[in-house]
Amino acid sequence: MTKDIIIIGGGPAGLTSAIYTSRARHSTLVIEEKAVGGQIILTTEIENYPGFPKGIMGPELGMLMEEQAKKFGTEIKYDSVKSINIDEKKVITEKEEYTCKAIIIATGATPSKLNLPKEEELTGRGISYCATCDGAFFKDQIVAVIGGGNTAVEEALFLTNFAKKVYLIHRRDKLRAEKCLQERLFEHDKIEVIWNTIVDSLEGDDSLKGINIKNKITGQISLLPLDGLFIFVGYTPKTEFLKGLLELDENGYIKVNEKNQTSIPWIFAAGDCISKPYKQIATAVGDGCTAALSAIAYLEGY
Ligand code: FAD
Ligand code: NAP
Repeated sequence: MTKDIIIIGGGPAGLTSAIYTSRARHSTLVIEEKAVGGQIILTTEIENYPGFPKGIMGPELGMLMEEQAKKFGTEIKYDSVKSINIDEKKVITEKEEYTCKAIIIATGATPSKLNLPKEEELTGRGISYCATCDGAFFKDQIVAVIGGGNTAVEEALFLTNFAKKVYLIHRRDKLRAEKCLQERLFEHDKIEVIWNTIVDSLEGDDSLKGINIKNKITGQISLLPLDGLFIFVGYTPKTEFLKGLLELDENGYIKVNEKNQTSIPWIFAAGDCISKPYKQIATAVGDGCTAALSAIAYLEGY
């Protein structure tokens, strides 16, 4: 199959690009390996995306973006991109090969791990990286959240809908989450914050029984019995398949110029997978728009 523009990833960045490129009458294919909407379908209410003063649920926003892209003729295929053949301008997926004139990479990011022994074995057996997906399994139980960013704080608040007690464990004595979220966290009577603390090791074989936590100031290690552990310690860009093809920064994020153009002139990139300081839906949408307009300008020769 040949398309003018192939967009890899169907999150907010990719779908915004698709709205612009298909509306500009360039045949557009979005390839999405999991679910259209990207990370926003993993969250509940979004309060900071303009146009929705009463907030909007993440999955609904994802569906609206998809509907808007399809309205202008975007085609969406469920498949996983494995590589790009730079010389032949081909996108190689698990199932097929597609030729195109330009590519927009919008592959986003996945949750980072703590990389502790047994973390992988206990994932789905007490350890989770998604409160929206797994929170309901912990009704009236005790859970802990690791991290001090927006995700950790929002998800800790969300988990109070199910758990009887939520610990938020942070490695410093200050959160990086927005102040309005911090206020809600500190006011909540089900949440207890444990400062200056890291997870030293995990307890449990078939399922998580608890964690050994280490106070970074005193060095003291103590056992915290738990039913669930939710890890929100940032994200890793989904750019493995681009290594050696495009310029990436030291953390694997794609380097782009002010036109969201990568080190290959006909490949553009947008959203959480690019090297930038703020990762939000609004910034992903902005990047998606810039990448699309740049790709259109490239194809139309201006
Ligand atoms: P993503 O949303 O990550 O989408 C990338 C897509 O690409 C995914 O669907 C993925 O499956 C697909 N993909 C990846 N690799 C491949 C491949 N090789 N082949 C095919 N498809 C691929 N931001 C806010 O502004 N407000 C909020 O309230 C907010 N809440 C959040 C809550 C949570 C729990 C999380 C995790 C994030 C939240 N964010 C929020 C951040 C926001 O979701 C992201 O900044 C945004 O989704 C980034 O969009 P994106 O399109 O760049 O990437
Ligand atoms: P983040 O902002 O990168 O925060 C990660 C947190 O995990 C930090 O507090 C960090 O500690 C901690 N951490 C990192 N590695 C750790 C380790 N090995 N052990 C223990 N703690 C560790 O990630 P995020 O909260 O997932 O947010 C990602 C992006 O999405 C951000 O740009 C965020 O603004 C955005 N987002 C926005 C919203 C919203 O707008 N409402 C909601 C969710 C996410 P330090 O603070 O010490 O570095």
